[in-house]
Amino acid sequence: MRNVRNLGISAHIDSGKTTLSERILFYTGKIHAIHEVNGKDGVGATMDSMELEREKGISIQAAASYCLWKDCAINLIDTPGHVDFTIEVERSLRVLDGAILVLDSVAGVQSQSLTVDRQMRRHGVPRLVFINKMDKPGADCWRVTLMLQEKLGHHPLSLQMPVGRFEGVIDLLTLKAYAFDGENGEIVREEEIPEELQAEARERRLGLIERVAELDDDVAHAFIANRPVTVPQLKRAIRTACLNHRATPVFIGSAYHNIGIQLLLDGVIDYLPEPEEKLNTAFDRNGHEFELESNPDKPLAALAFKLQDGRFGQLTYLRLYQGRLSKGDVIANCNHHSRRTKVSRLVRMHADEMEAIAAAQAGDIVALFGVDCSTGDTFTSEDFFCTMTPLHVPEPVISLAVAPATRGSEENFSKAINRFVKEDPTLGARFDEESGSMILSGMGELHLDIYLERIRREYNCAVSVGAPKVAYRETITRKVEFAYTHKKQTGGRGQFAKIMGYIEPLPPDTVEPFEFVDDTRGGAIPSQFMPACERGFRDATRKGSLIGAPIVRVRVVLDNGQSHPVDSSEIAFTTAAVMAFREAYAKAAPALLQPIMIVEATAPVDYRGVLLAQLNRRAGVVVSTDVHEAIVEARAFVPLARMFGFSTDLRSCTQGKGEFTMEFARYSMVGRADAEDLIAEYRNAEAKKR
Ligand code: GDP
Repeated sequence: MRNVRNLGISAHIDSGKTTLSERILFYTGKIHAIHEVNGKDGVGATMDSMELEREKGISIQAAASYCLWKDCAINLIDTPGHVDFTIEVERSLRVLDGAILVLDSVAGVQSQSLTVDRQMRRHGVPRLVFINKMDKPGADCWRVTLMLQEKLGHHPLSLQMPVGRFEGVIDLLTLKAYAFDGENGEIVREEEIPEELQAEARERRLGLIERVAELDDDVAHAFIANRPVTVPQLKRAIRTACLNHRATPVFIGSAYHNIGIQLLLDGVIDYLPEPEEKLNTAFDRNGHEFELESNPDKPLAALAFKLQDGRFGQLTYLRLYQGRLSKGDVIANCNHHSRRTKVSRLVRMHADEMEAIAAAQAGDIVALFGVDCSTGDTFTSEDFFCTMTPLHVPEPVISLAVAPATRGSEENFSKAINRFVKEDPTLGARFDEESGSMILSGMGELHLDIYLERIRREYNCAVSVGAPKVAYRETITRKVEFAYTHKKQTGGRGQFAKIMGYIEPLPPDTVEPFEFVDDTRGGAIPSQFMPACERGFRDATRKGSLIGAPIVRVRVVLDNGQSHPVDSSEIAFTTAAVMAFREAYAKAAPALLQPIMIVEATAPVDYRGVLLAQLNRRAGVVVSTDVHEAIVEARAFVPLARMFGFSTDLRSCTQGKGEFTMEFARYSMVGRADAEDLIAEYRNAEAKKR
């Protein structure tokens, strides 16, 4: 196996993520030359390289940049800056094996740091912390480290301490000081620790060993016996603890002033996992989860985690989890009926170049050209099947009507929408016959805003936008039996179908919105009509009778029925199912569901009162409030319907100092008064149409 790190960097906005990424790419020496693999005929090769040359423009914003540090390949994976992009966040967290969490040396742990950290924990991503901007007045890495422990619940291990007002860094493992010379800090100079810092450094090293001893028996024994602890011993213990999420190594530096980056890169190699050190799973045809092996000799399993549009078609980024992939291979897209594709060109993306390669293997990240697929698709060897993403995609919670604002831009508008929908499965677009407009739906206001902005900027198309609408759902609260006979005699062949069974609520935490169970015996309903029944029930759930919203959390059980040898048909059973469901639905105490968001809002502690009042006013259920360093942070569940305008209100009542993030949490029942209003509103609108 080669030495590879698939690395993500995440941070609260403005902490220096971009600057740090740039520096990493600089120190690892971006490769500028294009290495073209010779084609079979010379013509192909030159054509290829010309196209690649012209294609260069797009790779600047590469979703994954390949670079080399010492003997290790690092894929720097772009992590989305907005937590609203749930699916993008999930996807990138899946692709990376380890991450650097960048914190500001003064502000420390901020609202977004909390959110991204929680997501990483949920996905089991081990992380290092880099305390950036150590050059700033008021920088205090010890205070930030304490926040890391108190606010994020980490077990931080400070591996470094600063020299002066940040001339350099002391490595507490080796007890050496480092300065960074040359125009861009590219010359790393190892020095003795300045006299006046020696005592502190030794004391801090002892403190570090003591903390590591809490996590590692070997180190503990040495520590208790007063034996010296060696650097390799410490590194091994810290690595194990980091991989097991029991400790977070903490580095310090200044990306802007080129201090400490090379040591951080060493840390990435020392403490973050190799691809085979992480457990990856996939689902087989029956939906059973199984473990993939980071082994090149096994069948291929690769995830298309990002699509990018270029002048020469679609560029697809793949992360290989198992097996190998070579130019010329035929691979199957398991999310699209194992559709075959030939890999005509395989490239590795650098920061501003791409490099054609002949083959890649488990752990690698590569890009393909001209493969038609969607993000989240799994590719495998021809004779192998697995999918890496469960096919379920979260339901959108918000929607709005959009239209091109000027004549002549319709084509660009639909191009943009088609592309974005393909790239992001949580973004929905449908044409609404009734209103005659395009309805865009997504995971939050910000999510949609970003796409609207991209339509404007990247497709040069002004858009007019309607008011955002919350995506309500309908559900049932009671089990109801049904027996329905559909019978029609209109001369000639008639229609006959009889179905019996019941509908019942599914528990709130079920993932699939609808479940169909065939519990009939002895061919009461001939099996060839069963899909027609299911189709009818599914159709009936698309639009509920309360407010016309989709019906979710319903199980339909069919336990008896009857057919006629001549008059029964698929259409008869589908009709019976639709009608049976409608009747049963009305009796099943239908109710409305609304999306509830988890909101994390922060403000200086003086604004504690107004912050909580804002949340209360919006029917928020506050689950915690914490005060740290004169900043209050409140977490609350708030109905999405009440969140419109929150950012403006929060800003104005905190003099611009309040911040918040929000994420979809769950669907829950709409209160009675609100439900009545919504139903009345829907009825009025329907009446007007007639
Ligand atoms: P991002 O939003 O996290 O990507 O942050 P950027 O990399 O864009 O940095 C935000 C601002 O902080 C920019 O003005 C940077 O120049 C500045 N910055 C980044 N790193 C440092 C640093 O180490 N020290 C100081 N003083 N400023 C920095």
